[in-house]
Amino acid sequence: MTSISRRPLVGGNWKMHMVGTEARELSRELVARLDQPAAEVVLFPSPPLLPTVAEVLAGSPLAWGGQDIHVEDAGAYTGDVSGPQLADAGCTWALCGHSERRRDHGESDALVGQKALAANRNGLTPLICLGETLSERQNGDTFAVLERQLNGALAGRPDPFALAYEPVWAIGTGETATPEIAQEAHRFLRETLADLIGEAAAGAKRILYGGSANPQNVADLIALPDVDGFLVGGASLDPEKFSTMIGCCGEAA
Ligand code: PEP
Repeated sequence: MTSISRRPLVGGNWKMHMVGTEARELSRELVARLDQPAAEVVLFPSPPLLPTVAEVLAGSPLAWGGQDIHVEDAGAYTGDVSGPQLADAGCTWALCGHSERRRDHGESDALVGQKALAANRNGLTPLICLGETLSERQNGDTFAVLERQLNGALAGRPDPFALAYEPVWAIGTGETATPEIAQEAHRFLRETLADLIGEAAAGAKRILYGGSANPQNVADLIALPDVDGFLVGGASLDPEKFSTMIGCCGEAA
């Protein structure tokens, strides 16, 4: 595959953590530490925190996005968040198909594909998450699962988008994929992507790694040819760890 330079991207998935005062403090810390970040950075707070985060991040190089997006732009969907609402809150990104939503809300591959299109329709870039569970890996199904998830997510040909390879067994467990496992999966995703959208387009897409990424393991991972950044959960709540990880992306460039 042609080698092309891709600007690293690092996402901080805050999940269902923090209240407004804590979100304000963390956002301020990050703005202070990341005036010239070595990567594109996007924070994913819960919906009620978005106005607070937006207020602090406005005018900084840091972007923010939604942790989920509904496929419809409005309607009777209690508890959900729409693309227009995210765009109105200044979001430029939306997570689609995080494994916790696939697991807890039964999100199918097809639904994730519709969410990616809803993001694009509202001017947002979907960060599409995919990855195998431990039993799928143990059964030798990793590539089949990734191919199925990718086909579903890209069925409607969203663009722009980025991918996050997040092996479910590595999320929040402290167990990170080895560089060999990560590169094998990322390479597979890029090759499968090339079959779907062409080699040049696939070569330009960012594929992030997610799953217990931390300041100790990111240097080895970002050095891999097909790893273009990170989606970070737990460590993104610690400004020192998160900014250190972003700094590592610059050292690899
Ligand atoms: C995530 O939630 O996307 C994630 C990768 O979490 P953690 O970094 O805590 O494993």
